[in-house]
Amino acid sequence: MSACLIMRRYVLRPATRALTPTGGFLKGFSFTLNPYVGCAFGDNGGCPFCYVRTLVIAHSEPGPWGSWVIAKSNLRELLEREMATLERTGRLPTTTILMSSATDPYQGWERQLGLSRAALAVILRYRPRRLMIQTRSPLVERDIALLRELGAHLLVSLTVETDDDVVRRAIAPTSPSIVRRLQTARRLRDAGVFVQLAIAPMMPNSPKRFARLAAEAANRVLIDTYFLGDGSNGRRSCELGMGETYRRLGYERWFVPGAERELVEAMKAELGPERVVMSRDGFLAI
Ligand code: SF4
Repeated sequence: MSACLIMRRYVLRPATRALTPTGGFLKGFSFTLNPYVGCAFGDNGGCPFCYVRTLVIAHSEPGPWGSWVIAKSNLRELLEREMATLERTGRLPTTTILMSSATDPYQGWERQLGLSRAALAVILRYRPRRLMIQTRSPLVERDIALLRELGAHLLVSLTVETDDDVVRRAIAPTSPSIVRRLQTARRLRDAGVFVQLAIAPMMPNSPKRFARLAAEAANRVLIDTYFLGDGSNGRRSCELGMGETYRRLGYERWFVPGAERELVEAMKAELGPERVVMSRDGFLAI
C-alpha cells in the first residue's frame, strides 16, 4: 500500500440535514446537496484552485484538503424527510438544488457507497423544479438511467477546464483525462440528458479546437475564470498560489483578466451565442 493511501482517511458519519439553504454566489439555487464533506480529487496536489480549501469546512478533519472524506451515512433518510416537507408545504415546483457545491458527488468512494445515487432516486420521486449535478467524474454515467428519468428536471454540469491533457496533468493531475470527460458528456447528451460543459476555471487551451469539441459534446457551455468567478477579482486565486503556478509553468498570459476572450468568441461562433453562458449569471441560469 502506498504512503498516500495510508494517510487518506475515509469516515462514515451521520449528518443533521441533507439540504442546505444557499447564500452568496449560489443564491439563485434554493439548496445545495453535498453527500460528502471533503473531496478526494483535491488530494496530492489535485485541484489547487479549489476555493473550498479556503472555507471553514476544509478544516472539518485534521490533515490537508483532499486527504480525508466524510460520507453522510444517513443522507437518504434525511433527504426523504426534507423533500416530503417541501412537498407538504407546496414548495417543490420552485425548488432548485445544486449537487454539489463543496465536494464532487461522483468522487471515487461513491462507487462503493452510492450516496449520490440514493439521493437521485429520492429526488426522482419528488421531482423538484430543477436539479443541477456538478461533477468532473465519469462515474456519473453509472446513474444514466435515473438521470434520463429526471428529464427536464435535470442539468448535468461537467467540469472540463481545457482541451489540452498536458495542461490538465500539470494543473489538475488527479482529474480524469479530457478525452474521458468529453466521452462522458457525449454519452449523457446522447441519452437525452441536458449537458453543460463547465470550463471553470478556464485553463490554457486551443480556442477553436476546444469549441469544436464542446459543440459535439454538450448542449451549452459555461465559461468562468480565476478573475470573474472567484468572488474577489482574482485575489483568492492568487492566495491559493495560482498566479505562481501559472508563472512556473510558463502559462502567465492565461492568468490575466480577459484571457478568456478568444475562447468566448470561438465558442459563440461554433455553438451560437445562446449556448454560451458566463460566470455566475450563467451558472445560475437553470
Ligand atoms: S472536484 Fe471540485 S470540490 Fe473536489 S477538489 Fe476539485 S474543485 Fe474542489
